[in-house]
Amino acid sequence: KKRVVSGVQPTGSVHLGNYLGAIKNWVALQDTYETLFIIVDHHAITLPYDTRQLGKATTDTAALYLACGIDVSKASVFVQSHVPAHVELMWLLCSSTPIGWLQKMIQFKEKSRKEGVENASVGLFTYPDLMTADILLYQSDFVPVGEDQKQHIELAREIAQRVNHLYGGKKWKKLGGRGGSLFKIPEPLIPQAGARVMSLTDGLSKMSKSAPSDQSRINLLDSKDLIVDKIKRCKTDSFAGLEFDNAERPECNNLLSIYQIVSGKKKEEVMEECKDMSWGTFKPLLADALIEHLSPIQARYQEIIAEPEYLDKILSEGADRAEELGAVTMRNMYQAMGYYQRR
Ligand code: ATP
Ligand code: MG
Repeated sequence: KKRVVSGVQPTGSVHLGNYLGAIKNWVALQDTYETLFIIVDHHAITLPYDTRQLGKATTDTAALYLACGIDVSKASVFVQSHVPAHVELMWLLCSSTPIGWLQKMIQFKEKSRKEGVENASVGLFTYPDLMTADILLYQSDFVPVGEDQKQHIELAREIAQRVNHLYGGKKWKKLGGRGGSLFKIPEPLIPQAGARVMSLTDGLSKMSKSAPSDQSRINLLDSKDLIVDKIKRCKTDSFAGLEFDNAERPECNNLLSIYQIVSGKKKEEVMEECKDMSWGTFKPLLADALIEHLSPIQARYQEIIAEPEYLDKILSEGADRAEELGAVTMRNMYQAMGYYQRR
């Protein structure tokens, strides 16, 4: 079976962007592929964070995976830090990554802007190597992510190719290995719709967990009242009617797109339904569609979170499976890189 790997950072509450761009699409993949869905907690410490929140955000994210439809009889769900090989492999990959490659990463530029590059952590800078390790450790074929992660997947591909070239093939064979490639070259899976859900307060920046204002996003666990309130106050424009794909109306395109996906309608249907609407008519419609879509997820989340032992068991089994798969890659890497093995 081909393998699919993806994850969400426990940096805050999971929002509509994470759901539409990533988690919702994972659900459809678990029947066809061997899937591993990770709560990537090592990534969550790269920016200043609250130590009292990390653990809770980790279990909440795991519970939301399940509530959104991840089925652990098919998929492995686990916490990144429970499988030490992620960090181990990252170190090996770091030594094959030119600094210049990391300096081109847009996410680093954006996330270091606030504190300044000089003050940003080395962890934030090398984050793409850890993400590459998350993917390559399991010889992943596909990585379902939102549009913002495209550049990091491209980097993962380049690092994989470089390592294959530097340490794989005949060189590896001479050291007693199988020869050939050390890593599969992973491919991103970016959805047609929902790949870039925008902020409710600014249609030009993406919805993010780390954005300071909670008004900018719909969290999967927001109450009905809060959803109504956020939609009521979200940014709109003063054009007549509603339309998709008008570059001058990013907020309008975003809100219609969200409505389209959560209502399960076709784009043409939504175009027809909403073309003459005012914001005053559309907003309650959108809020209702969101509430209807999120309510069952929230109910399942409550059931799961009420049984912490069950969740712990799932995470432990997931980590066991991941460890087993990752061990193969680590053995090959140490051998190909010429390390002396413990005997
Ligand atoms: P942070 O601000 O801490 O980086 P985030 O909201 O960007 O949080 P991540 O944990 O970094 O969330 O990303 C998890 C997954 O969600 C990734 O696949 C990412 O591409 C996807 N994703 C994040 N934001 C959006 C968005 N606005 N639209 C679509 N997909 C998104
Ligand atoms: Mg992010």
